[in-house]
Amino acid sequence: MFESLSERLGGVFERLRGRGALGEADVRAAMREVRIALLEADVALPVVRDFIEKVTEQAVGHQVVKSVTPGQQVVKIVNDALVEMLGSETAELELDVSPPAIIMMVGLQGSGKTTTSAKIAKRLTEKDRKKVLMASLDVNRPAAQEQLATLGTQVNVATLPIVAGQQPVDIARRALQAAKLQGFDVLVLDTAGRLHVDQALMDEMKAVADVAQPQEILLVVDSLTGQDAVNVAKNFSEQVPLTGVVLTRMDGDARGGAALSMRAVTGKPIKFAGMGEKLDALEQFHPSRVAGRILG
Ligand code: GDP
Repeated sequence: MFESLSERLGGVFERLRGRGALGEADVRAAMREVRIALLEADVALPVVRDFIEKVTEQAVGHQVVKSVTPGQQVVKIVNDALVEMLGSETAELELDVSPPAIIMMVGLQGSGKTTTSAKIAKRLTEKDRKKVLMASLDVNRPAAQEQLATLGTQVNVATLPIVAGQQPVDIARRALQAAKLQGFDVLVLDTAGRLHVDQALMDEMKAVADVAQPQEILLVVDSLTGQDAVNVAKNFSEQVPLTGVVLTRMDGDARGGAALSMRAVTGKPIKFAGMGEKLDALEQFHPSRVAGRILG
């Protein structure tokens, strides 16, 4: 995760650390390199611009250049700015309502939505001891509902029985009723995805959200798509009140552009990172730990 970005930044800071005194020109030269590294990592340009401005101002303005360990000071300033860029605090799921709490999963087809639904359900069951029900509202993709049922069996989580021919809003109603009657704590609704953002997808998603009134609407996006992932998030958040983002395939993401731009561009916190195909490969997204990994 973030190997190429990490390596680039590591090189810049090693050169800084290796020097005794640092002048303003040295800091500015280093920041030019950081800027290029972030742009190569596919971080959105306005985010990079803000970041460099903030860090440069602090590094030049403070006592950094006069300090005995100026290189380390600059790294600390960069670290703090990265944490802020990633969202500062760890964003938790907000499920503190009278049960069932409802989590609605949205996203494009292939983003990892169904897998992530099962990963979250497994985590809530095992870690938080919740009684979880999952339901697939994907009536477009053949066998999507069966896929969720299979995953449910693998993670020991109940899935709503499939009724052939039922439409998404009706499935949502049935799931809600089943969750209430059978005393489930959490209901995870896996909605249909499309290959591209289109109005039919948005309309269906809004209709389901109206019926289900979810506490959490989580957008699942593929981190490997970089700034496209951020644009998808922008589009979705204009249509439904997203409460957070799950970035999948972070295990293969050497660049990190989506993770670094997401919060600043969309205002939405990243709540989880998908770290592999296995159903336990889901991590809570801790901004300070992620910044730590980037800076090595
Ligand atoms: P959906 O169409 O959005 O429901 O996508 P799926 O859940 O069916 O996932 C598509 C593919 O991506 C599957 O092969 C998953 O195993 C894989 N996948 C999902 N999340 C991750 C992840 O975090 N890392 C990796 N490496 N693969 C993932």
